[in-house]
Amino acid sequence: MTVPSLSQHDVDLLRKDTPGVSQLIHFNNAGTGLAPAPVLDAVKQHLDLEARLGGYEAAAHASTDMEAFYTGLAALIGCKPHEIAYVENATRAWDMAFYGIDFREGDRIVTGRAEYVSNYVAFLQMKRRKGIEIDIVEDDASGQIDPKGVKAAIGARTRLIALTHIPTFSGLINPAEDIGEIARSAKVLYLLDACQSAGQIPVDVGEIGCDMLSGTGRKYLRGPRGTGFLYVSDDVLDQIDPPFVDLQAANWIDEFTYELVPHAQRFETWERYVAGQIGLGVGVNYAIGFGMEQIGNRVCALGDQLRSELSRLDGVGVHDKGQRKGGIVTFTLDGETPAQTKARLSAAQINVSVSNASSARIDLPHRDLEAVVRASVHAFNTETEIETFVKVLADQT
Ligand SMILES: *Cc1c(COP(=O)(O)O)cnc(C)c1O
Repeated sequence: MTVPSLSQHDVDLLRKDTPGVSQLIHFNNAGTGLAPAPVLDAVKQHLDLEARLGGYEAAAHASTDMEAFYTGLAALIGCKPHEIAYVENATRAWDMAFYGIDFREGDRIVTGRAEYVSNYVAFLQMKRRKGIEIDIVEDDASGQIDPKGVKAAIGARTRLIALTHIPTFSGLINPAEDIGEIARSAKVLYLLDACQSAGQIPVDVGEIGCDMLSGTGRKYLRGPRGTGFLYVSDDVLDQIDPPFVDLQAANWIDEFTYELVPHAQRFETWERYVAGQIGLGVGVNYAIGFGMEQIGNRVCALGDQLRSELSRLDGVGVHDKGQRKGGIVTFTLDGETPAQTKARLSAAQINVSVSNASSARIDLPHRDLEAVVRASVHAFNTETEIETFVKVLADQT
């Protein structure tokens, strides 16, 4: 069954709900997506409520909206609401899972070249602390992580497969499902960084077969900044001991005893950005309302269009790789550094960002790249914006 892309009607609705699109061409959705009006309204309303009622009273008043965060994310990624934790960003969400694993000296982590900078430095810290080893699996000929390589890398001491679904610095979509199959049959923990994929393409933890998954609010889910989430499957809950516990994560029984709460909320803290939780819940449910398949198809189609128009320009190198590509498009332009390209586009009210080797030590330099321009499209972007973008880019005078 093929699911169509978004209808023109839906694209118009998305744009009508997105105040930012009247001012600029926002191709920096991998940095932060432009928030739609329902998200903005929900956040503002809750902040107002806090000012009028008091923060605790406002939270009690908004308990249904806070609950909608869990049910929304569960619907988005295909898990149970109690398998979701609200965390202040994706990095800390990932950390709560990673640092919760009881690594021993000689344990090994299998990962790939797309791995996010903060994840990799955490591996290095764990290596220094506990003497673990890191196995980097080479990409296949297409440039995605090689499932055969993952299989071959797994040994008796492999504790974790850590994969970034869509890297922050390229259009690649890694074959997360193939890796899940391998993780399951090898009975190795599988932690997926879905920071760029959640909200960009359909993500289903059952189909992927990951045990833990982290995501952020502000990127393709178009939620508020300072929000994120962690999925931890009931099946592995007992294997991950939260690295920090508080009164949300645990019950204090007596002088000698505490008890972790039964589900993923043990990875949360009690104090939180309530308006952000509500806003992210609204953003997630907003996306589901349009259909993640439809959104994903449109994002990928726009990404393809941008890539193919760029590759027709003289002096442009498009650097995305992999069998399957999404809405992140990376390129360089002869005669200009990526930072200069970004500044020139910015002067024309076009937002892009730059990915530097400092955030991609095992990928960009490996491909002889120091930096790339990153243009990341969302479903509210248009074919016309892409044409304007390409015209401005080509006009180097
Ligand atoms: C942005 C990003 C993160 C970090 O997300 P935060 O919410 O900023 O912590 C992690 N992984 C990937 C792949 C990212 O692109």
